[in-house]
Amino acid sequence: MYNPFPYSLDNKRYHTWNYFLQNKFGCKVTKIALNGGFTCPNIDGTKGVGGCSYCLGGSGGFAGTPSLSVTEQFREIAEKMGRKWQDTKYIPYFQANTNTYAPLSRLKSLYEEALSQENTVGIAIATRPDAISPEVMDYLAELSKRTYLLVELGLQSIFDETGEKINRCHSYAEFDACYKALKSRGINVCVHLIMGLPNETHDMMLESVKCVAALKPDCIKLHLLHILKGTKIAEEYARGEFRCMELSEYVKVIVDALELLPPTTVVQRLTGDGARDSLIAPLWSLKKFVVLNEIDKEMVRRNTVQGAKWKEC
Ligand code: SF4
Repeated sequence: MYNPFPYSLDNKRYHTWNYFLQNKFGCKVTKIALNGGFTCPNIDGTKGVGGCSYCLGGSGGFAGTPSLSVTEQFREIAEKMGRKWQDTKYIPYFQANTNTYAPLSRLKSLYEEALSQENTVGIAIATRPDAISPEVMDYLAELSKRTYLLVELGLQSIFDETGEKINRCHSYAEFDACYKALKSRGINVCVHLIMGLPNETHDMMLESVKCVAALKPDCIKLHLLHILKGTKIAEEYARGEFRCMELSEYVKVIVDALELLPPTTVVQRLTGDGARDSLIAPLWSLKKFVVLNEIDKEMVRRNTVQGAKWKEC
């Protein structure tokens, strides 16, 4: 069958996470989202209070139950996954809040407990760029020599004025320094960006993508801004201070972004999972398969692929 793009197993025109996992591990691999009971420097007052304006008291709404141990969470979720996909291997994913924000001894104990679980082939850790101490970075460097390690770094936008608007409480310069420190230690990094943040134009979103593309990250996650009940951004949205993206605008920005990314960067996500009960807008995002299909259709219509407009600099 004609395949317009080499890094996909299912005729996608971008470098899929599934392709990467199959190619690297030779089997189905699933992530197990865990909650290590961390807080966040943007919630506890160290960097800010109240958290990012879109965050519902800590990111990672789909992670395990923090009152359970890592082993209990892992086993509970792996049992469900195993029913769906026999012979799958696992990557435990510390997802909820800021997962490097604790003393090294506690981090080591949680990560090593996760890695000791059966059929585990690596580990993923989500964090902020201002929350990895040099000693934690050195430990992560050592860990990445022993196993597949992916540090997931929230950037969201390269624009500091947007960062202030959403109470992100770190700058682009802090992201840049952290990213480079991780890469200089040979650590795999996944960068997270959010499309549709307040006051951001199409061109601004693409500027963020271009800046990240120039870094040639190992992976990227492109999220859509979700307005969730109970968040500060929901109040701003209710006051009419900004509007959410339409599906057609989102598809356009995502396909434009994919064209700008290096073909080697693995695309882990092209939309976010909004919790059905708490999502206020955009409601079209609940139909995730429709969104992904529209992205595929637009890539076919343009006869384009990931990296079509990427220039190495
Ligand atoms: S950095 Fe993450 S966990 Fe912390 S407030 Fe922002 S979104 Fe929430």
